[in-house]
Amino acid sequence: MIVMKFGGTSVESAEAIARVAGIVRARLDRKPVVVVSAMGKTTNKLLAIAADAVAGELKPALAKLAELREFHVRESAGLGTDDVVEAHFQDLDALVRGLAVMRELTPRATDAISAYGERISSLIVAAHLRRCGMNAAHVDSRSVIVTDRRHTQAAPLFDETNRRLRETLVPMLDHSVVVMGGFIASNEDGVTTTLGRGGSDYTASIVGAGIGAEEIQIWTDVDGMLTADPTVLPGAHRVKVCSFTEAAELAYFGAKVLHPATVLPAIEKNIPVRILNSRRPEVEGTLIVSDPPPCSTPIRSIACKRNITLLNIVSTRMLMAHGFLRRIFEVFDRYETSVDMLATSEVSVSLTIDNTRSLPAIQAELEAFAEVSIEKDLAIVCMVGENIRRCDNVSARAFTALDGIRPRMVSQGASQLNLSMVVAAADLQRAIESLHREFFRTPDPASFE
Ligand code: ADP
Ligand code: ASP
Ligand code: MG
Repeated sequence: MIVMKFGGTSVESAEAIARVAGIVRARLDRKPVVVVSAMGKTTNKLLAIAADAVAGELKPALAKLAELREFHVRESAGLGTDDVVEAHFQDLDALVRGLAVMRELTPRATDAISAYGERISSLIVAAHLRRCGMNAAHVDSRSVIVTDRRHTQAAPLFDETNRRLRETLVPMLDHSVVVMGGFIASNEDGVTTTLGRGGSDYTASIVGAGIGAEEIQIWTDVDGMLTADPTVLPGAHRVKVCSFTEAAELAYFGAKVLHPATVLPAIEKNIPVRILNSRRPEVEGTLIVSDPPPCSTPIRSIACKRNITLLNIVSTRMLMAHGFLRRIFEVFDRYETSVDMLATSEVSVSLTIDNTRSLPAIQAELEAFAEVSIEKDLAIVCMVGENIRRCDNVSARAFTALDGIRPRMVSQGASQLNLSMVVAAADLQRAIESLHREFFRTPDPASFE
């Protein structure tokens, strides 16, 4: 058994879905479960429609919905899915009109709306595989993936989910290709939830671990994990192999190619994860395993995260009083805002966040016991590699390579496989180019291409 997850661009059109069918057909002997994202940018579009509706802009919302409906009808033409696509869009129409009346978008309603992308795409892909002669069976992910009630960021309840996956999916795979939507799930009452943006990767690994798959494949629009974000640095190398912890760290620090939680279920069952390109299926991709072969290059890849805000928090009592850190973190906890990087001195704490939704409230609470200054328009550059702990000159080389770019904050050691720095957003491109040139001039051919 294998799990094959196809992202938005890999199912963005009838043509793309035809490529998916070819890729799946070539692997039928491995008993695939196919997990699909919403087609193209459908999730973004659904969320924009919802935002229009709650803002009272019903007309533009309905116009965008009609466009989205036409897109789905066009790309699924000839598959015999017209009625079911139509029914889903009628439900959406009612939901959108309801939002325009209520003028309130709760997390629960957000999930109800955004789930339609994967609900519809999975039906279309299943029909397409059947049209190509495969015995494809659609499973509604909401009937097997059970989560808590944290709408838009729900966490799976693994015992129940694994039981359902084993009982439902495993027997089906003897005779069918199972097709299901990523990202979507339901809570114990059967109410639709989602796993967070980019969560279809996570669905794939939840399913893979639940059924005990031999491999989890993430099919996307790049050749694998690359040595730098291709939107910042075109022409980076393909990472042939890396460890689970390296992949998780890269994902957490901005390598969007993988949802950060993806490797967790895979680690638990030691299931290899492979990132592959659905436009170039012949490329080997990136293999993510627990224990990759030794590599002479000190770092595996450079990730980056934009839109970072730095808070400098200085204790008004001059000395860092006992309990100061606890009080700070309690504030961030209360506003469900996670901290990415942290540095402390005797009287001050600097930390970064990327979610600034609650920043004014956080700032007000911190100012009750500290002086707070805020810097915006920053970025994190994060070099990741298990070798960082073994090489003693990585930071020296990194700072020399930066050649005049002054990091606002540096962190090394927390996981021993990452060296991160905060730089001005305006310096991001140059920082990555310089670091990449320094560390990937002659990458080890056993681990990079
Ligand atoms: P999908 O829709 O298939 O889930 P995503 O857009 O979520 O695809 O992820 C793939 C994208 O991740 C790539 O197109 C690329 O722009 C981006 N990306 C960022 N960092 C990296 C990296 N280090 N290696 C590969 N891709 C990366
Ligand atoms: N469609 C969802 C999103 O755009 C999930 C995914 O594609 O992984 O976030
Ligand atoms: Mg993705």
